Amino acid sequence: MSEQISKDNQIKDGPTLSEILRNNQRWASETKERDPAFFERSATQQHPKYLWIGCSDSRVPVSQITGTAPGEVFVHRNVANIVQAEDPSCQSVLEFAVLGLQVEHIVICGHYKCGGVHAAIQGTATGKVASWIKGIAQLYASKRKSLEKLPDEARLKALCELNVGMQLASLASSPSVQQVWSQGRALDLHGLIYDLETGLLKDLGMSLRGPQDLAADLL
Ligand SMILES: [Zn+2]
Repeated sequence: MSEQISKDNQIKDGPTLSEILRNNQRWASETKERDPAFFERSATQQHPKYLWIGCSDSRVPVSQITGTAPGEVFVHRNVANIVQAEDPSCQSVLEFAVLGLQVEHIVICGHYKCGGVHAAIQGTATGKVASWIKGIAQLYASKRKSLEKLPDEARLKALCELNVGMQLASLASSPSVQQVWSQGRALDLHGLIYDLETGLLKDLGMSLRGPQDLAADLL
């Protein structure tokens, strides 16, 4: 009970809703001042080159860390940047991005200190989250022998990176990606990781440009 009370009394970071609405008005008028046709264009079309699949974590804001503008990145985020064949939300985003918008690149972006990955190591998740991250817990179990030799922080980092690889393999085997590749259309898949402590993205060197790149060790 006391834990519950202290949780409820936590002071949250961030603006009030009225401040958010005021910020929005300021952003809209500054954007229009800089580029008078911006919203007219934005309202009628989008031609993003990228689909970004990342974690829901509030500390990994796609546009800010990539310097991209509205219209440039189509986004899907969930706990621990997971791509599951049976998840209609992620799979429909993916289908629309590659078949409708015809994006040319898909990024899976994990991040160090990911709470979802950490919970998979600790076995502490409950409810919906526990079943959502089951695949990462299984990945951890399968690599446990080598990962357990690492100190805690390095182990979590390693599993965050391995998780990106596993999700990339899942992405590559999805019907939408397979369809595009079978048509010979260019579609590159990339695995990145974001470091909360430095603000830097790292390319994990796992890029796949077609079924021929789908190495067995990603699976
Ligand atoms: Zn995360």
